[in-house]
Amino acid sequence: MTVTRNELAAQLRALGVRHGGVLLVHTSFRAVGPVEGGPIALIEALHEALGPEGTLVMPTMTDGESPFDPAATPTWQMGITAELFWRRPGVRRSGHPGGSFAAAGPRAEEICAPQPLSPPHGPNSPVGRVHVLDGQVLLLGVAHSESTTLHLAEALARVPYSVAHPTVVVVDGQPQVVAIEETDHCCRGFARADGWLRQAGLQREGPVGQAHARLANARDVVRIAVECLASDPLVFLCSRGAGCDECDAARASIAV
Ligand SMILES: [Zn+2]
Repeated sequence: MTVTRNELAAQLRALGVRHGGVLLVHTSFRAVGPVEGGPIALIEALHEALGPEGTLVMPTMTDGESPFDPAATPTWQMGITAELFWRRPGVRRSGHPGGSFAAAGPRAEEICAPQPLSPPHGPNSPVGRVHVLDGQVLLLGVAHSESTTLHLAEALARVPYSVAHPTVVVVDGQPQVVAIEETDHCCRGFARADGWLRQAGLQREGPVGQAHARLANARDVVRIAVECLASDPLVFLCSRGAGCDECDAARASIAV
């Protein structure tokens, strides 16, 4: 049952992780299962699959309840792999007070460059730069509901909903609570991207450890999602009356 770093790297290459590319990874380490060497060995396997010219990127989002320090603030609900990744030597972390990312490799600095507060995952954000750099998105034991790349698609498609989240932002050295607008909802509807990508033959799937992994080009994910949002801008929201408070809040934000 226990897999080694070398076995994980071989599975990642077989899945189609591009040598020398940019790779954005959303991970559930628990789904990957027992790994000899733990989450650090998984991080090393990802680097091994990418090679020294590759750049590894992970979300390192925070709860926004205290002033964000990229060198100290722990991640919130991002999993142990991302939490250990940003703390490794030589890994950069972007500065968004709620929606930060960490990156390591030749493109890390530009991926983590400053960005506007809103939207957190727009074109001028780490996930937007992964898209511009023709990166890949790897979902390791998680579904598209966890994929920030679909928030980028929402921003590019200019969806009509936007919800403000109070976040502590340091302004002129003083912490202040700022309402940051983002295209938020429960994100369960993002799972629709599975069917779109499979139908178009644009998603590779296979095992990585015990996890089911999905791999796609960020550009394919965004293009297909923007097309679907063009025909139905609310395609990602739970239907009205489904009892989803978050999607109801997104619907209520739409200007009439
Ligand atoms: Zn919902």
